[in-house]
Amino acid sequence: MKQYHSENVPSLLQDQYGRIKRKLRISVTDRCNFKCVYCMPEHPEWLNKQDLLSFEALFQFCHFMVQQGIESIRITGGEPLMRQGIVHFVRDLQALKALGLKRISVTTNGHYLAKYAKQLKDAGLDDLNISLDSLDSIQFKELTKKKLEPVLEGIQAAKDAGLPFKINCVLMKDKNDDQILPMVKWSIANHIPLRFIEFMPLDGDALWSNKDVVSEAEILQILQPHYSVQVIEQQHEPARQYLINGSYHLGIISTITHSFCHQCDRIRLTAKGELYNCLFAPQGLNIKPQLEALVSKQHTPEYEMTVQNLNDLVHPYIWHKAKGFHALQYQQTRKISMHMLGG
Ligand code: SAM
Ligand code: SF4
Repeated sequence: MKQYHSENVPSLLQDQYGRIKRKLRISVTDRCNFKCVYCMPEHPEWLNKQDLLSFEALFQFCHFMVQQGIESIRITGGEPLMRQGIVHFVRDLQALKALGLKRISVTTNGHYLAKYAKQLKDAGLDDLNISLDSLDSIQFKELTKKKLEPVLEGIQAAKDAGLPFKINCVLMKDKNDDQILPMVKWSIANHIPLRFIEFMPLDGDALWSNKDVVSEAEILQILQPHYSVQVIEQQHEPARQYLINGSYHLGIISTITHSFCHQCDRIRLTAKGELYNCLFAPQGLNIKPQLEALVSKQHTPEYEMTVQNLNDLVHPYIWHKAKGFHALQYQQTRKISMHMLGG
């Protein structure tokens, strides 16, 4: 492992393997109205309201991170549209575009989108990822414990508002793998970008098993008798792109069978203010006190010192990011799932 020496490391956020961080995901709440089988524990213990980072502290953090080279911020959760004030927050973040921020996005289960799509567009949101794991309403309810219809209405509202979006579909063996063909057919017919995601060991009750994963190879096997499928060279994105019938682009995020870790440019902040240098990192870095200090010391002589303190914590932590999923998967001693980490 290369040692961290501040004088040898550029001011950008870079890890020991030379990967520069450009994308930040912030979770604004751990709460969710869905109970997706691959994500939420059976008995979730929600954070207390006072343990959540305030929007002021989140803004200060985003400001700091954009100054360190972050170009894209994705707001996630839990369900981000359940946190009051989310539209204002998106609007406030626009100020960071003058400092180098290029894109502000939201990942949502879509349930409240019919209400929020237009407001988010007007607040300057650039795009959305919407989760949709089945087009069969009975199966959808089994997977999420909620109804499909509001999500389909939310997708229509995003279209009507002119908000670009992609659909994310997590596949699980014998739960929704019969949806591969219907989802592709529906997406092509409606001109909607779709990405299948391999089920990762980040479910709340740690029940994940390799045999529940629907692999990229299995997805392709199901598609090939029905469509012409050509692989496109992978760009700087976690999803490998396939050209279906010569014109439609399908993405597959295959963290388990073809990890993207060697190019990973992401970091994450949980709703209670823990920084994670990797989805699979054994431990986060609690920076809530430093972020709250940034808020309270604004416009005071101590502000610069507070920024420096944060800098001295964040850079070494990012530097020590592990090589990737395959280096970390057998060290899991932690109990943190996607609804805390934000995906
Ligand atoms: N509630 C929002 C949603 O569902 O889109 C945002 C948070 S959710 C944790 C973010 C993304 O993580 C979703 O696309 C979800 O499907 C994905 N996800 C959750 N648990 C997962 C798992 N165990 N493996 C793969 N993807 C997962
Ligand atoms: Fe909620 Fe999203 Fe997790 Fe589903 S994947 S339980 S919608 S946080």
